[in-house]
Amino acid sequence: MTEKSTVYFIPVNKINSETISKVFINTKFFEFLKGKKNVGVKVHFGEQGNNNYLNPEYTKIVVALVKVHNANPTIIETSTLYRGARQNRTTHIKLAQEHGFSENNIGASIAIIDGERGEQFTVVRTNFTNVKEAKIAKGLANFDGIINLAHYKGHFVVGFGGVIKNIAMGLAAKGGKLEMHSHTKPWVKQNKCKKCKTCLSVCPTDAIIITEKGSVIGKSCIGCASCIEACPQGAISINWNQGSTSTQQKMAEYAGAILKDRLCLHFNFALKITPNCDCMNVTEKPIMDDIGVFASSDPVACEMATWGKTKTNINKLYPELNPELLMDYSEKLGLGKKAYEIIEI
Ligand code: SF4
Ligand code: SF4
Repeated sequence: MTEKSTVYFIPVNKINSETISKVFINTKFFEFLKGKKNVGVKVHFGEQGNNNYLNPEYTKIVVALVKVHNANPTIIETSTLYRGARQNRTTHIKLAQEHGFSENNIGASIAIIDGERGEQFTVVRTNFTNVKEAKIAKGLANFDGIINLAHYKGHFVVGFGGVIKNIAMGLAAKGGKLEMHSHTKPWVKQNKCKKCKTCLSVCPTDAIIITEKGSVIGKSCIGCASCIEACPQGAISINWNQGSTSTQQKMAEYAGAILKDRLCLHFNFALKITPNCDCMNVTEKPIMDDIGVFASSDPVACEMATWGKTKTNINKLYPELNPELLMDYSEKLGLGKKAYEIIEI
């Protein structure tokens, strides 16, 4: 019989300090930490204008639990590729504080661990098919264990974003994020373009110009995909098959490089499940009812369990994508097992 990984499930009406604490007890996270002190709590603070990011109260609960176990929690994040407040350390921290993640409220300070603008990284050499030298946030070296708090939601390039994406995109430095996006360089269907210039305002590299026939994407495009989602006419597109497959594989490879020899406990908060990620600067309407929290020391099993409860809605939203590739490929790389059993807390 296939060995299964355990995924703990907390129903939406039971998410509190006591149930979250039980996940730590059952997974023996603090025992595995073996008295080491520095714990990074990975969160996403949400873009300006987006109110669907993970409620800071959950981070606060986790921070308190880390302290009870005599360890030192730090909230960790990295800078984004795309234009906005989260693109550099100073404005990123300011936005986080505005969203309720101040040290006063949470009980731990914030560290943006890849420098001022994502320029500080460590190279991890791998034997993976796509990524040979993963560029991961330099500051990760300061942490003995990671607690991965992911807000689970849809994503227009890879189908959904959960614990693997939160680690891979979320803890790679800028060069790593670029590498994962390298097949998402888009083009414009000019017969659909209304020359509204919305795409110009989101492009971090000023790669787009407006011509008589419509907008055109130039060579300085870094494939961040911001313009695809921003275009109100749906005029900007990528080769979805190649773009999505490549990004999913590289995300799995980056997660593999980051998690290698690193203690990590993963939480998918399946709440406010929106069509797109919290990098969007709008507050989208959820596509389904809140479910609860899935948690495991196995990131693949954690994704599979959450996917099992959300795939009907997400597949309807993105019929052209195959998000299961992420779990298939992650299992092949040895990140974890797709087979899981759920224990409800
Ligand atoms: S956002 Fe879309 S419609 Fe507006 S200029 Fe850009 S491509 Fe054209
Ligand atoms: S053209 Fe689009 S995908 Fe390319 S860098 Fe600009 S916003 Fe990102």
